[in-house]
Amino acid sequence: AQLDTLDLVVLVALLVGSVAYFTKGSYWAVPKDPYASSASTLNGAAKSGKTRDIVEKMDETNKNCVIFYGSQTGTAEDYASRLAKEGSQRFGLKTMVADIEDYDYENLDKFPDDKVAFFVLATYGEGEPTDNAVEFYQFFTGEDVAFESGASADDKPLSSLKYVTFGLGNNTYEHYNAMVRQVDTALTKLGAQRIGTAGEGDDGAGTMEEDFLAWKEPMWAALSDAMNLQEREAVYEAVFSVVEDDEKSPEEESVYLGEPTASHREGRAKGPFSAHNPYVAPIVESSELFTVKDRNCLHMEISIAGSNLSYQTGDHIAIWPTNAGAEVDRFLQVFGIEEKRHSVINIKGIDVTAKVPIPTPTTYDAAVRYYMEVCAPVSRQFVSTLAAFAPDEDSKTEIVRLGNDKDYFHEKITNQCFTIAQALQSITSKPFTAVPFSLLIEGLNKLQPRYYSISSSSLVQKDKISITAVVESVRLPGASHIVKGVTTNYLLALKQKQNGDPSPDPHGLTYSINGPRNKYDGIHVPVHVRHSNFKLPSDPSKPIIMVGPGTGVAPFRGFIQERAALAAKGEKVGTTLLFFGCRKSTEDFIYKDEFKTFQDQMGDSLKIITAFSREGSEKVYVQHRLKENAELVSELLKQKANFYVCGDAANMAREVNLVLGHIIAQQRGLPAEKGEEMVKHMRSSGSYQEDVW
Ligand code: FAD
Repeated sequence: AQLDTLDLVVLVALLVGSVAYFTKGSYWAVPKDPYASSASTLNGAAKSGKTRDIVEKMDETNKNCVIFYGSQTGTAEDYASRLAKEGSQRFGLKTMVADIEDYDYENLDKFPDDKVAFFVLATYGEGEPTDNAVEFYQFFTGEDVAFESGASADDKPLSSLKYVTFGLGNNTYEHYNAMVRQVDTALTKLGAQRIGTAGEGDDGAGTMEEDFLAWKEPMWAALSDAMNLQEREAVYEAVFSVVEDDEKSPEEESVYLGEPTASHREGRAKGPFSAHNPYVAPIVESSELFTVKDRNCLHMEISIAGSNLSYQTGDHIAIWPTNAGAEVDRFLQVFGIEEKRHSVINIKGIDVTAKVPIPTPTTYDAAVRYYMEVCAPVSRQFVSTLAAFAPDEDSKTEIVRLGNDKDYFHEKITNQCFTIAQALQSITSKPFTAVPFSLLIEGLNKLQPRYYSISSSSLVQKDKISITAVVESVRLPGASHIVKGVTTNYLLALKQKQNGDPSPDPHGLTYSINGPRNKYDGIHVPVHVRHSNFKLPSDPSKPIIMVGPGTGVAPFRGFIQERAALAAKGEKVGTTLLFFGCRKSTEDFIYKDEFKTFQDQMGDSLKIITAFSREGSEKVYVQHRLKENAELVSELLKQKANFYVCGDAANMAREVNLVLGHIIAQQRGLPAEKGEEMVKHMRSSGSYQEDVW
């Protein structure tokens, strides 16, 4: 009888999996944030009225190379810009960069054979396209590709399309680089001619940048052959014109001093609030859940009352950070613009197709503090572009060496965890005054909002969002200094100010806590909410199993808060099993007291199983506890429990996935592969859900 039930579960899982497959995952995929990748979000550039016909656009603007990007966090977009620059400067291509969602694909069969299209495509989550590439993906990988001309797939309609492709993926996910692989197969099948290999970068192995660099050289050689291009000495050509306006005072209303949009600048920001338009939310409470040497964890309550924002238990909140003053100062000093930091600058794209990623007019100070990711790890290619602008010959020689020697770069820069400014400081104390500001805008990403799994229940506190964040402050192996996370240290500073701490600047980082024009005073932070599919079962009597060590417990605090409230109202609540892990029961067991209160409300239905890695002689992690409790876990799965994992993607989530497969196989007397298969089916049917980062 057990096997019958199991077979039924497999069948249902297969059926749901197929439905999910044929609906392109729209029922179960991680929900998409429609704006996350758009380069135009900061200045709200209107997209309306522009042509969606790429053939026409290239004709009008005299381009012969378009570089489409499908990007979620900005890396693919950055690679697209870099390819465009290199294509133009080294090979004389007339390049343009294009957000893949800004164009139609129905006429790609008309793409002229003397031009080339690049597709730089990130894979997101479980093998899915990025938000901006969903339609493109569906168009090419769907059942019938319908071109405007009526050409069918059998006619090889794309035979005039030359294309180049590079994928950004992470091998810790099962569907590694699925996006680029599937798109490449689909394009080839339609007759398109790929130039070079379909490149793949691996974020999981930490080799993305080097994979990209190693892929692009043979690709350029193949493209030069195919298009008869002549390589020339690359001469830097600015993408943006950055002009100082000495007449204008930074106080003038038209100048962006860090505000995310025009309506924020004008002081009339109103909803709907979104990834385009954050809500400047008051932090109503903040505290530290634990503080031990070099480690601390924040709990914050952020009010969304009156904003028209809403959330559901399991959603994410994005925090829009501000760079630390100390790092802003360092950056301005290194590039010799400290004295004129408050000068007003106008930034324009020199080419009509270039989108300005920074609201303009602004000031150097505001650009660096609010709009540019100046603290991120540095790419070798970006450092080498600075050689031409080095302050003296010795520095130039050193930069050229760093650019050419991968191992040397790793030793001197990557392993030291330097930001761009720290890297240049390590080469010379002289300022790099000759570097055009455009090059810095081109070479650095926009400052990205960071996501946090909401740790409260919307049923219990619909107007207040809790977050649980560990403050990033780590000395990485080999590095000579401590790397401070941008957002979490900013949040710590906000907490210190709110609690009247005499030194509101952790680690001397000196934040502009009050924000542009004091708009964040009274402890506010810009946020938006991102909806997720990480959800409790709609029927609370269904059992749930949650695995969430460290801050991975965040959404589960919300889940338990919700189920405790339902139990208190007299509803029947199913077994709620949490596997929680941390170092020591006395050190970093967050929400310990709260869990006791929930236990009072829920009685036996709440079970918390803990793993403390630094208490006994051996390290015990959540996956060990999961294994020890195989029988209970298996029993709950038979009762159709949902299984949730949250936290570390690289190690913990993979281990848990493996262990669960073993448990199912062992408890039901099945071969190991069958257990793995069952977990896969649970994933596709939505009964195994991950919220990992
Ligand atoms: P960043 O500045 O972004 O740095 C992150 C890490 O990158 C650093 O620790 C460091 O290891 C490395 N790094 C930074 N600069 C350099 C450099 N120059 N050289 C080398 N390495 C460098 N976090 C939580 O604490 N709680 C949550 O509930 C939570 N939920 C999340 C949910 C989702 C969906 C996602 C995607 C992430 C979640 N995170 C959560 C992680 C969170 O979004 C942030 O990534 C994290 O807080 C660090 O942000 P930061 O700006 O402080 O650090």
